[in-house]
Parts: sequence; C-alpha cells; structure tokens
Amino acid sequence: MIPPTHPRYQSLLIRERLVNCVNRGITSYHGLIAHGRGEAFDYLLGEVSHPFALEAEKAAVCLLILADHPIISVNGNCAALVSEDIAKLSNLLDIPLEVNLFHRTDARVEKIENHLKNSGAGRIYARGDAILEDLDHDRRVVDSRGIYRADVVFVPLEDGDRCEVLKIHGKKVITVDLNPLSRTARAADITIVDNIVRAIPNMIKMVNELKTADKSELDGVLARYDNRRVLSYALETINENLNRISRELLE
Ligand code: ATP
Ligand code: MG
Repeated sequence: MIPPTHPRYQSLLIRERLVNCVNRGITSYHGLIAHGRGEAFDYLLGEVSHPFALEAEKAAVCLLILADHPIISVNGNCAALVSEDIAKLSNLLDIPLEVNLFHRTDARVEKIENHLKNSGAGRIYARGDAILEDLDHDRRVVDSRGIYRADVVFVPLEDGDRCEVLKIHGKKVITVDLNPLSRTARAADITIVDNIVRAIPNMIKMVNELKTADKSELDGVLARYDNRRVLSYALETINENLNRISRELLE
C-alpha cells in the first residue's frame, strides 16, 4: 500500500496501475519503459495541464466532432491508465475505439477489448483485418472499419514511424505525448503535450461545452490552431522551469 501522504502519491498510484495491468497481460513490459520517459517529461513540465495543452485538447475535440470517420486508437498503456475515461469520451462523441498494439497478440487484443467493455465502452473494433502499407511492425495491422478508412485518428501515445505513415495515408492525426521532441509530436497535426490521465478528463469536459457549438465556431478554433507554436511553448515552459530552479539553487 502506498500511503496517501507520500509526496509522489499520484505518480506512484499510476505506476501501480500499470504494473497491475502488466500482470494481467494488458500492458507490455515495453509500455513500462515508455511510461518512464513520459513521467520524466511530466516532471519537467510541473505535472499540470498548461495553456498550450488545453489549447491542443480543445482543437482535438473540435476536429473529432467535425470528422466524417473518426476513430480512437487504444494501446496497452492507454487501456491501463484511462480505460473508463476513454470509454466515456468514445461514448460521448459516438466515436468507436480500436485496439491497436505495437506488441500484438490475439490474447492481448482480447484482454484489452474485455477491459474496455468492463469500463463502459460501447463500440470497440479489434478485427485486425486490414494492413497499413509502408510499415513493417505489428501496428500495421488495423481494422477495416476503423483506422484503415478513418479521416481523423486520435491515437494517444503513438510511435513516430506509425504517425508518419498515417500522415502518408492522408489522415489527420491527433496524439497525446509528453515529449515535445518526439517524432510523433512533430509529425502529428495536433499534439497534446499533457499526461494522458489529465488530457482525457479535460477533453470530456470540453465535449460537453462544444457539442452544441456551431460548425463555424469549431472551424475557427482549428483555423487559429498552430501545432508548431504549441510545441515551441512546451519547450519554452520546460526551459523556464529549469532556469527558475537553477536560479533558486543559487539564491
Ligand atoms: P517517437 O518514435 O515518436 O520519437 P519514442 O520512440 O520516443 O517516440 P515511444 O516509446 O514510441 O517514444 O512512445 C512513448 C511516448 O509516449 C514517449 O514519448 C512518452 O513521452 C509518451 N508517454 C508515455 N506515457 C505517457 C503518459 N502517461 N501521458 C502522455 N505521454 C506519455
Ligand atoms: Mg518510437
């Protein structure tokens, strides 16, 4: 048991959740390492949702509402960390979830599917009956009703090469990635530099506000959105945090 008084309580709880899902065959060992990199960036960012993250989250919700064939791609880390929230977002937006794994086995796909169902998800695609050309690892296996034909793919915690391939296939890509330097962050159309455990609840609140907005208002949000500026703000924020802490050491 982690005592709630521990200064890193939230972060330790999240680690517990991931370890638990590794033991249940939902998350891969590699997912633990990927999480560690994300945690390090979250630490540098001060573990809050900054204005640049909220701006990207809002643009993401607008794009998902406006899309013709949107899909939300779920991997083992996403399922471990935010299964209930991602199910809620999917239901609120009426956008199906697709289980898509870097380390794909039929057993893991089925476990994640069941985990999402138990968390309240409505529509889940997990057929793996289509192939995204130009990619040579398991993430090329997709569902013909989902990622394969989607115009907008919301894929939190994506890897860089797949993100680039989704772009080659003409799709708009929204991602969540705490590392503003990653290839994913740079290749995506909308990069949410925020912890997924904060990003999805923020987006749920925004859906409730934006669901009834006019198309012109949603278009306006997207027209004003600039992903390079968002990434630049994220890097500036890390810089400022480090400079401040370094100055404080010398005071
Ligand atoms: P790329 O291939 O895009 O350069 P990478 O190889 O550096 O990325 P991956 O291992 O493919 O990284 O994916 C892990 C990414 O997910 C990391 O960049 C990490 O910052 C991010 N990440 C991990 N956990 C979280 C989380 N809880 N919330 C948001 N981002 C996270
Ligand atoms: Mg990668």
